[in-house]
Amino acid sequence: MTMRWTPESWRNKPVVHMPTDYPDVRELQRVEDELRALPPLVFAGEARTLTAKLADVEAGKAFLLQGGDCAESFKEFSTDNIRDTFRLLLQMAVVLTFAGRKPVVKVGRIAGQFAKPRSSPIEEIDGVTLPSYRGDNINGSAFTPEERVPDPQRLLKAYNQSASTLNLLRAFAGGGYADLYNIHRWTQGFADHGIGAQYRELADKIAEALAFMEAVGVTPETHPDLSRVEVFTSHEALLLNVESALTRLDGGTGEWFDTSAHMLWIGERTRQLDGAHVEFMRGIRNPIGVKCGPTMEADDLLPLIDALNPDNISGRLTLIGRFGHDKVGKRLPGLMRAVKAAGKKVIWSIDPMHGNTLMAASGYKTRPFDRILGEVKGFIDVAESEGVHPGGVHLEMTGQNVTECIGGAQAVSEDDLSSRYHTHCDPRLNADQALELAFLVAERLKS
Ligand code: PEP
Ligand code: MN
Repeated sequence: MTMRWTPESWRNKPVVHMPTDYPDVRELQRVEDELRALPPLVFAGEARTLTAKLADVEAGKAFLLQGGDCAESFKEFSTDNIRDTFRLLLQMAVVLTFAGRKPVVKVGRIAGQFAKPRSSPIEEIDGVTLPSYRGDNINGSAFTPEERVPDPQRLLKAYNQSASTLNLLRAFAGGGYADLYNIHRWTQGFADHGIGAQYRELADKIAEALAFMEAVGVTPETHPDLSRVEVFTSHEALLLNVESALTRLDGGTGEWFDTSAHMLWIGERTRQLDGAHVEFMRGIRNPIGVKCGPTMEADDLLPLIDALNPDNISGRLTLIGRFGHDKVGKRLPGLMRAVKAAGKKVIWSIDPMHGNTLMAASGYKTRPFDRILGEVKGFIDVAESEGVHPGGVHLEMTGQNVTECIGGAQAVSEDDLSSRYHTHCDPRLNADQALELAFLVAERLKS
């Protein structure tokens, strides 16, 4: 029999990938109490709106674009960074909307994406062993014993940074920056050739279409959606103590919402059916995601779907495949077929990042652009042959001009990696690579 769900019921289940080495547990509890008293970052109604938009994705009428940092950090927190990620989401959405003729639901990996599950709890460099870096809301990335001690105060700092980030995103989304009539302004930062030129050409076409629409009476006054966008936030729900502290009862409906973000997902390492993460996520009413890696079998997935979405609500559950470019063709068809045969309403999305990581000879973790694109194309191929809507993509990307993934039109090479390798965890697509991917995916979706 399933036990009664409460925001704390996960504490009775096996917990993995949460730190257990806080030096002062009472201080941690004080911080959790403080978080419980802080205002929600998002509202129940907004999370419900996102579920409704995702129901359109589930029905094949829209596309989901989810992306942002692998891990946000305290050091890289700046207005420019947030603006550039926001702008990149808008640019990619424009490209995908124009090609696919479908609305694009925009969800950032932002305003709360700090904590990381690590493949090893320890890190060894030159014979020195320290606890792994687990994200800025837990410990520090510098390789010193002091930095690697978990500090509860970091949770409050992350909450505050998330609140400021969200505030800025809301201002950008509603305050004129996202006005489609400004589409040419979003080209700032792009070169005059290659992807930048391709984007400008598209922007010209959209500006022409807008001028035509204005002439026939469709203006921002009659259609306010032309001058604002909705951007939602998401992160991996890894630190259940924080997520449960921010989970609040929606007075109107008696439903629980995790107010730390609009959408939360369960990572590949924490999706155990009887584990704490699944227990927590089954009780919140936000739209949720689950990563599905190459070891997942239909027999694992179907019970997970039943646990997380027993009422088969459209828009509630997104399955995020992350198989690897060489495995998607083998692993995905069986899963898609089983889910479809069971009549489960899910959104299928693809994360082409986490199954395509490799170590360059120079020691940098990287991801080849071709493999990332290959997994997305493989995903679309499989979805089409299974008669399933290829609903979305989930990317690690940044608006900054970093050199972390190799390849793309700019041909970032292994030797270039060291020049602007800024990530605090996994390698991200830079703005040009992400936009190029959007153009190539758009082409594929059109054909
Ligand atoms: C992530 O999305 O950052 C991540 C750790 O992915 P996964 O759980 O799929 O490995
Ligand atoms: Mn990552």
